[in-house]
Amino acid sequence: MKNMTDFITQLPKAELHLHLEGSLEPELMLKLAQRNKLSLPYDDIAAIKAAYEFGNLQDFLDIYYQGANVLQTEQDFFDLTWGYLLRCKEQGVVHTEPCFDPQTHTDRGIPFQVVINGISSALKQAQTQLGISSYLILSFLRHLPEEAAFETLEMALPYRDQFIAVGLDSSEMGHPPEKFQRVFAKARAEGFKAVAHAGEEGPPEYVWSTLDLLNVDRIDHGVRAYEDAELMQRLIDEQVPLTVCPLSNTRLKVFTDMADHTILKMLEQGVMVTVNSDDPAYFGGYVAENYQALYESLEMTPAQLQQLAINSIKASFLPQDTKNSIILQIESV
Ligand SMILES: [Zn+2]
Repeated sequence: MKNMTDFITQLPKAELHLHLEGSLEPELMLKLAQRNKLSLPYDDIAAIKAAYEFGNLQDFLDIYYQGANVLQTEQDFFDLTWGYLLRCKEQGVVHTEPCFDPQTHTDRGIPFQVVINGISSALKQAQTQLGISSYLILSFLRHLPEEAAFETLEMALPYRDQFIAVGLDSSEMGHPPEKFQRVFAKARAEGFKAVAHAGEEGPPEYVWSTLDLLNVDRIDHGVRAYEDAELMQRLIDEQVPLTVCPLSNTRLKVFTDMADHTILKMLEQGVMVTVNSDDPAYFGGYVAENYQALYESLEMTPAQLQQLAINSIKASFLPQDTKNSIILQIESV
């Protein structure tokens, strides 16, 4: 048996839950701040790294939005996305469906086209130079009103060929799925696919209403579905993909310890679970480190890790024939 890290790297994988803003490494934050002549409340890399050692969700959000402020030009968004894609290449990610939060940028005066053009050109370059395919997801911030999401969607429609789906992220509690029912219906009518965060900090009821009212193709996180047997049966029957993020879950204390994580039980019961990194610069690892953590803490077997990679391809928005050929490659690793 070869080294497990090599085995994980060699598995062709898709990543389906990744916030581009959450892949901003301290080094790039400092570089962009200097390039844009912005002052940061941190003196050096060590101070930024120390701030990344947040203790709770609010501290995380504070440093996350502070980080986003250094993103100003199309080149900045290109560099952010390209840095992430190089990690994908190192780790055997052959296809990625990252999301971005336009409102985090447009609300501080950065034009929408600056954001999406920078991201899109990096994604295109990755296809030709790195052999990594991708579809982009446009996420609405759920702590803001639905009206603001409608405005964002309107703003994005002229760029419709540059993203495939809409999503919903940021603080879940107090912002139930029904708040965004109309804007998701509109996005659906425009031909977009849909995903949404649900059942991370929010209860299983939020997963039910995300499925019923937002008509999503996938649930981001969804780990709290495990508390509801009827919901689990529905996820199994309908093979609804869950984009689970193990290191994020332990970092934000959704599970106290990785050994308590329910992803293996869900996998064994037949739920379409996948492994993803969420905000890897902040949560201690990219997708391969997440697979590695499951291997170490839950003693997942190579066959189970292989199944997770197969699930990531099945749960993607790739065409069926492409899925079939990648799955054959996974089975031969
Ligand atoms: Zn997320």
